[in-house]
Amino acid sequence: MALARILIVEDEKHLADGLRFNLEAEGYEVETVDNGEEALTKGDFDLVLLDVMLPGMDGFDVATALRARGEVVPILMLTARSRPEDVLKGFAAGADDYLPKPFDLAILMARVMGLLRRAQWLKQQPAAAAADAFEFAGKRVDFDLLELAAKGERIPLTQMEASLLRYLIQNEGRAVSRKSILETVWDVHEDTDTRAIDNFIVRLRKYVEEDAAHPRHLLTVRGIGYRFVATPNSGNETAPD
Ligand code: CA
Repeated sequence: MALARILIVEDEKHLADGLRFNLEAEGYEVETVDNGEEALTKGDFDLVLLDVMLPGMDGFDVATALRARGEVVPILMLTARSRPEDVLKGFAAGADDYLPKPFDLAILMARVMGLLRRAQWLKQQPAAAAADAFEFAGKRVDFDLLELAAKGERIPLTQMEASLLRYLIQNEGRAVSRKSILETVWDVHEDTDTRAIDNFIVRLRKYVEEDAAHPRHLLTVRGIGYRFVATPNSGNETAPD
């Protein structure tokens, strides 16, 4: 496997240099930029370390712009404080994980490795058939390509979106708690605000539901979390298919 390439977007030079030094010591290939505009001119990275407070475009804008053009690269956001609103805003913008500043270098390394490992895990999941994919209700999730084919479109998924969808699909028909999602998909074991997950579900519903306001596949289980249903049975629902 080629060395993972990491883009650091950080305007505090000493921090950027320190991160680069330590990541390179771990064998990663690293490039640093000190502003968001320049970050958007770069491509072909396996992970982006993205500071929120930047001159000009902030980290939220950069993440949003990357996702808007279909980039699925894992984004680890560095937030000034772990204010819940910043964390949620980061996830909504497309971040896969976040780390509040100041952070412990060992924790940062673990998060970086975790994100890269999950990216690999997604690619290497044993495929029962030729392709690692799941089909339901005329839609197809391709876990190799990180792509969802739905509504006549091919929608790129971020690794976290794909991981979350995979976890829900693996538990089809069963309610999964927000806590277990955090632990399994994000590898977060602290007591974290689980509302971040809800933002991901909102995004996934936009992709897979005919009517995101009346979901039939990604159902909310009140007080617990979510439940994936591949084939909604009619019951009191109307089947638009
Ligand atoms: Ca900064």
